[in-house]
Amino acid sequence: MKLVLATRNAKKVPEMRAILADAGVRAEVLALDSFPDIPEVPETEATFVGNARLKARAIAEHTGLPAIADDSGLAVDELRGMPGVLSARWAGRFGAGDQDRANLDLLLDQLFDTPVERRGARFVCAAVLVMPDGTERVAEGVLRGHLLKERRGENGFGYDPVFVPDVPQGETRTTAQMSAQEKNAISHRGIAFRALARELADLV
Ligand code: IMP
Repeated sequence: MKLVLATRNAKKVPEMRAILADAGVRAEVLALDSFPDIPEVPETEATFVGNARLKARAIAEHTGLPAIADDSGLAVDELRGMPGVLSARWAGRFGAGDQDRANLDLLLDQLFDTPVERRGARFVCAAVLVMPDGTERVAEGVLRGHLLKERRGENGFGYDPVFVPDVPQGETRTTAQMSAQEKNAISHRGIAFRALARELADLV
């Protein structure tokens, strides 16, 4: 079976392959670069699930293959759940050079005065599977943690350098100080993808 992963992020493809193999699904996982003429799908919905669904539906319709899409972001308690679906473009046009750096600089500024006990946040991921006949499955993953005042670690991307997860209990490293395997085992994306892989295993 062939399956399309609706991402241009090269790191997500081997991750999904490994998760599907673990779930007992034998599938050839193709990335979007195998379909160069698929147009970019604008993320116009107000929720992670809504955006993931938009992408998965568009890719399944275009390719005629089962498609998986995800949408993720950081929800900060002190900001009432923002940046949320705006996580990738939180610094707006000011992030034209290095968007990840600008987004994180802005967030650190916004939380400059926020004390440690109110720096809670969670990474959220919604993953949606759409089959060629329109059948749909949705999975969500959440990783709770808190935000440091300064960056630590070189791995990962986005807000990883300031995010210390609550699991495993007593963890003091940021997700940017973990290996990809360590992060996948606990991450919002890992949780959502593993749940979706189990759904897919049941469907095929
Ligand atoms: P997308 O799901 O690839 O659109 O990611 C949305 C944005 O959320 C990213 O650009 C990051 O800013 C943030 N984000 C999502 N997942 C993570 C993560 O695992 N670590 C750090 N930042 C993340």
